[in-house]
Formats: sequence, structure tokens, C-alpha cells
Amino acid sequence: MNVIDLHVHTTASDGTMRPAELVRYAKKKGLRAIAITDHDTIEGLDEGIQEGQNIGFEVITGVELSVDVPAGTMHVLGYLIDHTQSELREKLRLLQEVRMERNMKMVEKLGALGIPLQLSEVKAAPEHGQIGRPHFAYMLVKKGHARTIQDAFDRYLGKGKPAYVEKFRFAPDEAMHFIRAAGGITVLAHPFTLNRPQPNELEALIISLKGKGLDGIEVFYPEHSEGQMKLYRSLAQQYGLIMTGGSDFHGLTKDDVDLGEGYGGKEVTYGLVEAMKARRESRLKV
Ligand code: AMP
Ligand code: FE
Ligand code: FE
Ligand code: ZN
Repeated sequence: MNVIDLHVHTTASDGTMRPAELVRYAKKKGLRAIAITDHDTIEGLDEGIQEGQNIGFEVITGVELSVDVPAGTMHVLGYLIDHTQSELREKLRLLQEVRMERNMKMVEKLGALGIPLQLSEVKAAPEHGQIGRPHFAYMLVKKGHARTIQDAFDRYLGKGKPAYVEKFRFAPDEAMHFIRAAGGITVLAHPFTLNRPQPNELEALIISLKGKGLDGIEVFYPEHSEGQMKLYRSLAQQYGLIMTGGSDFHGLTKDDVDLGEGYGGKEVTYGLVEAMKARRESRLKV
């Protein structure tokens, strides 16, 4: 099989499978390659790559950064990064620091709402590399303050809800700059979350992002409609950007998507990885 999955989370962020476990699962499912793209961290990469070497399976380095935009949600994926590069590591370390400060503020907000939850309790949530809202949600459910994870987000943790705390984010151009400086390829993740229903508005944004260092668009994604995929594909072609796709798998217990499925499947094949590598090579030569 030639199918790949370029958007996958592990326990290093908010996935439920350890990197090694995930790599074994990907091989068992018959995939050709995966990219590990944890939120704001590269801590899962070494283990994933090592397991890939052990069992003969290609693991592509990646990361997914939430960046600062005035409206909607924008995530930037970085692929084929040298995750040992010090500038990149320093930027990601800053994000971890900011995250811990934010977690403390969420504990305070929940306390003020009459929900006593200690950071140490949140840290005891199942295996994870960095704590975030999903782990708060898990503990809120466990302690009987919410019925489900979704309920915890809907009532407390979602954007604009009473326990929500804004998080520092890099500007898109800064994020794309340091991904590229680490030898990486930059991709606009799941463009539908930008919330630009007008195609010309999205087009203008993509032109501007390309000027700031964008290499590609995540065309294939479980929540994209056929129409959206068609639009994103044509924008990629028109502006000379590569296409990527993936499931945004967070683990079998979390959502209904499975690794390697649900995103235009058969089209998301190894050719996309080759295009990505070719783009990287041509830039390194310049
Ligand atoms: P954080 O990085 O701490 O802000 O947490 C972000 C993660 O929380 C996302 O990757 C999702 O997995 C999850 N998440 C964010 N918003 C929601 C929501 N409204 N419902 C369920 N999960 C969410
Ligand atoms: Fe997530
Ligand atoms: Fe994302
Ligand atoms: Zn993701």
C-alpha cells in the first residue's frame, strides 16, 4: 500500500498512543509512512524515528504550531525539520513555558468557579508529554464536573468559556521562518478552521502567506468536504504550493477517525512526500 498519513498526534502532546506504539500501529495498518505532528513539541520524534528504524517504517519529522490570527484558528505544520536544531528547540521551549503559566491560570479560574482542581491532579491524567486543555477536560470528567470531554470544553474550557485562558502564539511569519530555518517545509493545516467561507478571501490570505514563507496546503483532511478539497487543491496548484493530507489522529479512544483514514484516502499517497522532499531539496540548493 502506498497510503500515508501526514497529521498524527502522540502522547508527547494530546494523543493517546506513545510514539513507538503509533509507529507499530501504522505499519500494522499497512501505511507507507507517517509524519508525527504533535502540537508545539518535537519530544515524540526521537522515539518514533527509532521505532521506525527498528521495524523498517518511514517516520517523517513534524510539528504543528498554533499561530496568532485575528479571526478563526490557524495551525501551521512543519515537515522534514531538523528537530535537533537549536533555534527551533528554543522556540518550542518558550511555548512549553507559556503553556505551564497558562495551566496555572486555568487552575485559578476553575477554583474561582468553585471547582477545586490541582495542577498535580491534572498532571496525573493519562500519559502525556505536555499538559493542556484535553487533560483538564479528562480530570473534569473524572471528578464529576463534566459528563464528557466535549461537555467540559463546551461549559468550561472552550474559547470564550469561563475557564478559558488565551495562550501566547507566534505570528504566522515567525513560525514559518523558524520551521524553514530548521530545514523544514511549512504547510497551512486544515484551512477550513480559518473560517474564510469566501473563496476569494481565502485566496488573498494564501497569497499573503506564500509571501511570508508558506510551502503547502493541507488539502486532504477528514473535516473537509469534497468542495473544500477541490478548492484547496486548485489554490495549491495555482500558487505553486505542495499538497498534504492526514487524519489528525489523536488515538483510538478520542475521536472517530482512525490512522490513515477519512481524508480522501487513496489520493494521499507517497507521491506527496516525494513532492515535499523535492521542494525541500530545491530550496536547500539555492
Ligand atoms: P490546548 O493546546 O491546551 O489549547 O488544547 C488544544 C487541544 O484541545 C486541541 O488539540 C484539541 O485536541 C482539544 N480541543 C480544543 N478545543 C476543543 C473543543 N471545543 N472540543 C473538544 N476538544 C477541543
Ligand atoms: Fe490536539
Ligand atoms: Fe490542528
Ligand atoms: Zn493536529
